[in-house]
Amino acid sequence: MTDLHYTDLDRQFIDGRWVHGNAGETLTNRNPFDDTVLNTIALASVADLDGAYLAAERAQRSWRLTGPSERAALFLRVLAIVDARKDEIIGWLVRESGSTLLKATIEWGAMRGGVMEAITLPSRVEGKIMPIDQAGKQSFVFREPLGVIGVISPWNFPLHLSHRSIAPAIALGNAVVVKPAEDTPVTGGLLIAKIYEEAGLPAGVLNVVVGDVAEIGDAFTLHPVPKLISFTGSTRVGKHIAGLAAGGKQLKHVGLELGGNAPIVVLDDADLDLAVRAAAFARFLHNGQICMSGNRIIVADSLYDTFVDRFVAHVSGFTTGDPANPATIIGPLINSKQRDAAIRNIAAARDAGFSERLSGDIEGLIVPPHIFAGVPNDSAFAQAEQFAPVAPLIRARNEEEAIRLANATEFGLSSAVFTRDVGRGMRVARRIEAGMTHVNDISVQDSPFNMFGGEKNSGVGRFNGEWIVSEFTTDHWITVQETPRAYPF
Ligand code: NAD
Repeated sequence: MTDLHYTDLDRQFIDGRWVHGNAGETLTNRNPFDDTVLNTIALASVADLDGAYLAAERAQRSWRLTGPSERAALFLRVLAIVDARKDEIIGWLVRESGSTLLKATIEWGAMRGGVMEAITLPSRVEGKIMPIDQAGKQSFVFREPLGVIGVISPWNFPLHLSHRSIAPAIALGNAVVVKPAEDTPVTGGLLIAKIYEEAGLPAGVLNVVVGDVAEIGDAFTLHPVPKLISFTGSTRVGKHIAGLAAGGKQLKHVGLELGGNAPIVVLDDADLDLAVRAAAFARFLHNGQICMSGNRIIVADSLYDTFVDRFVAHVSGFTTGDPANPATIIGPLINSKQRDAAIRNIAAARDAGFSERLSGDIEGLIVPPHIFAGVPNDSAFAQAEQFAPVAPLIRARNEEEAIRLANATEFGLSSAVFTRDVGRGMRVARRIEAGMTHVNDISVQDSPFNMFGGEKNSGVGRFNGEWIVSEFTTDHWITVQETPRAYPF
């Protein structure tokens, strides 16, 4: 273990300074496993938010002029810090977000991958010289930074989901204001700001405001400075933000990464052991609190009964409890609201008479794995994003029905198909209405240089690699008329 640890993580980070918020309210940041207080943060007011946006606007004017090598060098320094502070970062994820050591290490790795990709981004921005009919005219399309980007992130992968917007935004010459979720103010923002400050990012390019949604929520989107709001969270809030972005004084872009209800489709020729283990990992990693979690496990009729038996046997061995224990697979849910939603969903499944194949006593925020078989796809239970370690198992008569059931959801983020026939897997994958489909692997996947994003109510916009370059920059068409034109009047 390293003994590095940042201080002042109970402040706002505005214009390069660590300051107390002025809302007159405080947030008590607690460990969801043992309820200990991690820190107490004086929340940001609308005036603090305004200060952050104005600082970002000022800082971006010079940041956009820095050369690509200077920006790449920043991320090289960030990479060294992320490596040196690995234990500290993972420790915060375990304590603040209830992440198991396994999940926290995966999340640290996802952030690190994002830093490495960001090293390449500044030099990947390309414009175009275009042909044009008008004689004596030159035509160019420049790609320019958008300006200031507002980032709103959730609590489930707070470090990675804030950082996957922050890093490319900065790499591409933008400035950023981040509002982390109330449950994860440190890992969703303040810790990232410390890392970038230590790496020498100029003041104002990255700002973090921790505030109450009732105070600064709508103001965050309605503020005239941000040109794009990069939102990751629920579909309900995402639609609200899209409305504000369209309805405020200043129209702005939105990137929306929203809820999911990923199907894991197990076809009749699947490798059953692989499918069982993959479905369990996809469903139960981080207690099912992942937008890409395998939320509906749809299994071919001929394999169904065996699949259910093996799935139950495999999952019943999972260790629950302290997320800091390396053996733990199921740790605490993030808060009592999420735990109560899980309790309601489990009660609804029981009331509906689904076959409860695995359950256990709920203690504090720890919900042990629950498995229900014989669940109809059109039930409210299967249609809900569980966000808890609760697995609905659905039977499909044949391939056509499996595809139909997989698509019968309002969401379209990720999905998975299991078959020994790769050609069949590709054909089925292409018929699934989702942004992402993985053949013979889990639905939970994010690679910093591969496309990420959803369809339907799972959102609009794309992350990572070349896709984030186009999301976080804008095209500017510039022509030069070199010889005088004869105008018709
Ligand atoms: P949430 O929508 O309740 O909150 C997300 C963020 O929005 C938080 O920071 C919250 O404070 C903020 N917020 C809420 N109301 C706001 C308002 N009026 N104005 C501005 N900000 C506001 O979601 P959550 O419970 O934190 O996260 C879980 C949801 O996120 C799930 O639905 C999950 O599927 C989704 N998610 C999606 C992805 C993805 O990449 N598609 C990734 C992770 C999580």
